Amino acid sequence: MSVQVPRTLDDALKAIAANPSAQFIQGGTDLMVEINFNHRKPTDVIALRRVDELKSTQIDTKNMQITIGAGLPYQMMERGEIAEHVPALAQAARTVGSPQIRSAGTIGGNLGTCSPAGDALPVLSALDATVNLQTQKASRTVSIHDFMIGVKRNARMPGEIIVSTTLPIVSGWQGYAKVGVRNAMVISVASCCLVVDRINGTIAVALGAVGPTIIRCRETESWLAKQIDLRTNPTMPDNLLQEFGSRVANESKPIDDHRSTAAYRRHAVSTLSRRLLLRAHS
Ligand SMILES: Cc1cc2nc3c(=O)[nH]c(=O)nc-3n(C[C@H](O)[C@H](O)[C@H](O)COP(=O)(O)OP(=O)(O)OC[C@H]3O[C@@H](n4cnc5c(N)ncnc54)[C@H](O)[C@@H]3O)c2cc1C
Repeated sequence: MSVQVPRTLDDALKAIAANPSAQFIQGGTDLMVEINFNHRKPTDVIALRRVDELKSTQIDTKNMQITIGAGLPYQMMERGEIAEHVPALAQAARTVGSPQIRSAGTIGGNLGTCSPAGDALPVLSALDATVNLQTQKASRTVSIHDFMIGVKRNARMPGEIIVSTTLPIVSGWQGYAKVGVRNAMVISVASCCLVVDRINGTIAVALGAVGPTIIRCRETESWLAKQIDLRTNPTMPDNLLQEFGSRVANESKPIDDHRSTAAYRRHAVSTLSRRLLLRAHS
């Protein structure tokens, strides 16, 4: 296996342009597992860990958005400015693996793998994030909803690097919760991110691990906005919370697999979403 270790984004772009079928490795917490199990046998690898440009965070206070480098590890999202501006992402980051995994694993790797159970992805979906991709010759921005195209499949083209993701800074409560087979070091059996946009009076709900890719519950979102004025801080009546949970569960498309049953996953997203909505309004 040949391994190149560029130190700048330019050099990484040159390396992938010269060999578009080469495999990127960032933290290696997904790729090395795949290699160890012989699921993938890359002959050419480009290691991005030394590329500092991929680890930066930029806050644009004029346009109220934050751009997070693809190579930023979860450890750096747990507190500080990301936790302040995108608290749901900090919460999701805190649930990933162990301290070692959070120190190596990155948001770019989560996007690269594009597992429906990836913990950063429901947050990016609920916030309508964009993914910034670059080749040596061009760059493009893709909506997260168009980027995730199936189970572990994304819209990245050969020769492209995922450079960063851009998220809006939203005024209102937001949170992330997941259920796994134990309390820590666990891949999601079901997960949910809920974001309240207090200014526009909208709510966004995104689910992980209950479909081929992340699911946005758009029907439930518009139903709720018609029931209650989300620009105020309304008390959520119990019957509304129950119906909200059932509607969310109806929008999920879970399957039975080695981690859980579809029925339990439906129950889990109903409970998680209800709890998040209650927390948002208490
Ligand atoms: C013990 C363990 C526990 C885990 N727990 C969790 C968990 O709780 N939640 C969770 O979501 N995940 C978990 N994971 C999975 C993994 O840690 C995450 O998906 C992580 O985000 C992967 O990031 P990485 O930088 O290590 O990616 P890598 O393994 O380096 O790469 C993953 C994929 O993305 C591609 N890639 C990486 N960077 C780029 C880039 N800049 N441009 C284009 N392609 C790129 C790679 O080519 C590869 O295909 C766990 C893994 C392990 C081993």
